[in-house]
Amino acid sequence: MTKNSKKKGSKIELFSRESLISHDIPFLPNVFVADICEADQAIYDAKIAVMCDGCHWHDCPTHAKHKPWQIARSILDGKQTKALEAAGWTVLRLWEHDINADHDIVGRAVEAILRERGILELVKPDRTLSGIFKQEVDK
Ligand SMILES: [Zn+2]
Repeated sequence: MTKNSKKKGSKIELFSRESLISHDIPFLPNVFVADICEADQAIYDAKIAVMCDGCHWHDCPTHAKHKPWQIARSILDGKQTKALEAAGWTVLRLWEHDINADHDIVGRAVEAILRERGILELVKPDRTLSGIFKQEVDK
């Protein structure tokens, strides 16, 4: 992975960001949360961490070959999820194949969590703010 692609995000990270933008949900991309690990996107005030897990790297049950390093990565993912949850975060882990099959899955899932908590309109009242995020992603 080149420096540039890391900065811009993987294809599934970009789909995920676009989905959050289309749902007017403000987020921070590639941000370190709760002193534990980096989230691909964080809806910070609502303490929701979105992880876009590549099938190959994160040992997808369907598409990975379950090599020792993939299994190790998967174990680490599980530990990070537990640590984030212990710190009060909701962790949304999505497989690459699920994001590729449904580019809007992240926005819908986050919106459902916010609605369930009754804070949907608190999180996304300001369209100007999400406009700023959109400009960031379009760069
Ligand atoms: Zn997969």
